[in-house]
Amino acid sequence: MIVTPPGFLPDHRAVDDDNAIAHVFSRDRLVQLTDSPSLLPWAAYAELGLVAERRHVIGRHDGVTHVAVALAQNGLLELPGAWRASGLRQWFGVLPEPHLAIAMRAVQLLEWARTHRFCGACGAPTERVPGERAYSCAACGLSVYPRICPAMMVLITRGRQLLLARGVTFPPGRYSALAGFLEAGESIEDAIHREVREEVCVEVDNLRYFASQSWPFPNSLMIAFTAQWKSGEIAADPAEIADAQWFDIDALPDMPAPRVSISRALIDATVQRLRTTRA
Ligand SMILES: [Zn+2]
Repeated sequence: MIVTPPGFLPDHRAVDDDNAIAHVFSRDRLVQLTDSPSLLPWAAYAELGLVAERRHVIGRHDGVTHVAVALAQNGLLELPGAWRASGLRQWFGVLPEPHLAIAMRAVQLLEWARTHRFCGACGAPTERVPGERAYSCAACGLSVYPRICPAMMVLITRGRQLLLARGVTFPPGRYSALAGFLEAGESIEDAIHREVREEVCVEVDNLRYFASQSWPFPNSLMIAFTAQWKSGEIAADPAEIADAQWFDIDALPDMPAPRVSISRALIDATVQRLRTTRA
């Protein structure tokens, strides 16, 4: 799964100039060279005639400042043929993973900035707070920081079997672990028990933390667990789940691509553990 590259230092106060590595977005589409995407300074984008609307320093990596740049709404002029603007998911497997990891921070910051230009309490324009990653409202004093929405993921095991499901929006044939957002007031554990009950009607126990991953679509933190089946037969909620089944670890369906998402890392690690413990 994609993780923060070693040595990356978040730093919103680093010096931002035209030599800073730019992660340039038109809304949620990353602008990059098609054939040899690489880390480029803002100066390379400025040469194309692109116009920045907002810039947020992300941090430093290998001694270089990285900056998130939102193009002005009319700033994405016709791109030369060697360039394209695509959602981050389309760059998975194309861009180097450390580059993607920083771009995933960038798109999250820019979306936060785009959606907090006005105060949610009184409607006045907000201003950036010097020295902090925050916007504040001069009229009523409200401060807003980047907001992260926790979500749980759980892979349920029963002997050599995994409970995998197809969300109603999944590509054809694709299965994964269950996942869902927390509700106000819940712990992660509460959310796991509730979502599992709602989505597939089974009960679980022995929750075991696996790992977490930032998932900037647009601002989630996915917190992944394994759990053991305790009771109940699968009855999928048709509003959210197109199909859910028990799969033997030697007969698994199409799953999310390796290396990118925590879901596949969770499934692969669990299969490995079940093979080892039952060998
Ligand atoms: Zn206000």
